[in-house]
Amino acid sequence: MNKRPSILIVDDEVSNIEILSAVLEEDHDIYFATSGDEAIATARAALPDLILLDVLMPGTDGYEVCTSLKGDPLLADVPVIFTTALGDQEAEVKGLELGAIDYIAKPISPVVVRARVRNHLEMKRMRDDLAKLAVTDALTGLGNRRRLEQALNIETARLALTSGTLSVIILDIDFFKRFNDLYGHTAGDRCLTMVAAALNRAVHHASDLTIRYGGEEFACVLPETEHDRAMDIAHGIRERVEALNIPHSGSDVAATVSVSIGVATAACVPGATPEAWVKAADAELYKAKAAGRNSVSGRTFQVVVEDARPLSSTA
Ligand code: GH3
Ligand code: MG
Ligand code: MG
Repeated sequence: MNKRPSILIVDDEVSNIEILSAVLEEDHDIYFATSGDEAIATARAALPDLILLDVLMPGTDGYEVCTSLKGDPLLADVPVIFTTALGDQEAEVKGLELGAIDYIAKPISPVVVRARVRNHLEMKRMRDDLAKLAVTDALTGLGNRRRLEQALNIETARLALTSGTLSVIILDIDFFKRFNDLYGHTAGDRCLTMVAAALNRAVHHASDLTIRYGGEEFACVLPETEHDRAMDIAHGIRERVEALNIPHSGSDVAATVSVSIGVATAACVPGATPEAWVKAADAELYKAKAAGRNSVSGRTFQVVVEDARPLSSTA
């Protein structure tokens, strides 16, 4: 669970890498690169928690590496510490202006390196935790609506490259207002938590995402999932919720808590708006409700590209 932080050390002089590595290898996984180009490739492949970057290198120098890291959405948040020759203030300032978080003077002092690396990794961890918290629903631990928007923007863009299929499931607890009225808000919250857990058990792939979409509405994002498979998953969710066996005497359709589910599947095309999936799944959910609830309705649809607007401008 608590994996060691990883550090990418970039320096064209192998002896410098050896010195830094000796100082840090006890507590960190170390990657290294001896050129700027190698540094960028390794950073993309390894996604390190921190990068120690030499300024002066033949070919692509540290500044260029830093600029290209900061321009890459996948790597922009990885803290970069420049390693510069002692007293080279100009180099330090330029590095910081390019987005480096700190610098370490060479020849390096092991205690200084250890302390700075520790501090920056700690701050990175706190930033990551905060970012995760901002897209997590507090009650159920599922992703929240912002997370859904983020995921749909990323997945529709990624899948458009290969005309990949995306399925979205939206589900809503039946007669939940009555459940709250009958059993109280605390019991209602407990019910939401149990439905969320059932949802997580029904969805298996690492790339699948479960979301609390609104009050008693949930969603799943299923990349590279054909319609039949998505329908199977939806039926599995309905059955698992039924199997929770939570008494609901106010329901017109069952003796226990049930859900209605809408499923929408389409091939991704460039410029497709993520709203299309949510709208289509919502329409199917409405059909499932109208058909008597405690049921699943779904369809495949074709994305019509009109305007290429993302679902959320903040994603
Ligand atoms: P339908 O079968 O048509 O979906 O009916 P419904 O009663 O489930 O739908 P409606 O939208 O009328 O009511 C949703 C209820 O969900 C209203 C609100 O009391 C409850 N709710 C929303 N968020 C929460 C929450 O965080 N905790 C609890 N306990 N209840 C919530
Ligand atoms: Mg609702
Ligand atoms: Mg409801």
